[in-house]
Amino acid sequence: MGITRSFFIALSNNRLLNSGAKKWGFQLGAAKVVAGTDIPNMMASVRALNEDGISATIDRLGEFVTSREEATQAKNEIIQTAEAITEAGVDAHLSVKLTQIGLDIDEQFCLENIREIAAEAEQRRIYVNLDMENYEHLQPTLDILHTLREEFDSVGTVIQAYLFRSEQDLDALQNVRLRLVKGAYQESEQVAYQSAEEVDSNFLKLIKLRLDQPVFTSIATHDHHIINAAIDYVKEQGIPNDRFEFQMLYGFRTDLLKELSEEYQVTSYVPFGKDWYGYFMRRLAERPQNIQLVLKGALSK
Ligand code: FAD
Repeated sequence: MGITRSFFIALSNNRLLNSGAKKWGFQLGAAKVVAGTDIPNMMASVRALNEDGISATIDRLGEFVTSREEATQAKNEIIQTAEAITEAGVDAHLSVKLTQIGLDIDEQFCLENIREIAAEAEQRRIYVNLDMENYEHLQPTLDILHTLREEFDSVGTVIQAYLFRSEQDLDALQNVRLRLVKGAYQESEQVAYQSAEEVDSNFLKLIKLRLDQPVFTSIATHDHHIINAAIDYVKEQGIPNDRFEFQMLYGFRTDLLKELSEEYQVTSYVPFGKDWYGYFMRRLAERPQNIQLVLKGALSK
């Protein structure tokens, strides 16, 4: 793992900078990858995506929340986002990070919050994805998912290909809608593959295992090698197009996503809100070339 990746991941975890960023406003080119700081601005972006045949999964930014007030406010805003999806009549669903709604405070409190969100979403026929955060939060997230699945069908989660245990998790989640990703956090060699080659090879293995199962899968990556290999597999095996989709993050490889939308279902992950800093730093960590976004953003002010 390069020093640049570690550097940006360290920045993403810096609480002082996180709270500072909320006050500085929308700086440093974040506007290129974050769809505004409020619901109306975000909805305008979602409508534009829908017009191009692209669905959206909406993430009200925020994570590593430590106060109940902040967690409750986040829960309320996620519910408002669900209401806004129905009101605007857009093709969109929700992505939620459990640390934003209290996972680090009290698991029971977090469960009550996500249960409220899931109930509201189900009533509106909106799917809810539990985003996967760092390793420390993996098992608690899966535990909450299992509890939720006893009450709601339309809830799923994410499998990170860099983790050794992911094949087992994938197997245990055969009836659950899943998003497959490489993994965005810095994890230890005790639990995760460290080289890009190993992560890519496990990612492709998991994609194939999952495409063989009759359940919906989102393949979330900007990596055209992986996308092309997945398409080859789908064609070879005659896997129907309604069993999977491709997902990319808002602002990245938009042309490729549009091209894919001509043949396949596609979804853009649309983050919005004031708490953009950690998300933005992780994007820089993944691909230091994204630093161009910072420079262009700063220069265009
Ligand atoms: P990379 O490994 O970043 O890139 C591989 C290759 O693809 C590059 O070498 C380059 O050739 C090409 N490429 C990549 N980006 C570009 C670009 N912008 N322009 C041109 N070529 C490019 N992670 C989690 O841990 N939990 C989650 O819940 C989660 N949800 C996600 C949801 C979505 C929709 C997406 C897309 C990602 C999500 N991630 C999540 C992040 C994910 O784990 C990876 O960290 C991130 O997607 C970077 O890996 P990659 O597969 O896009 O390819």
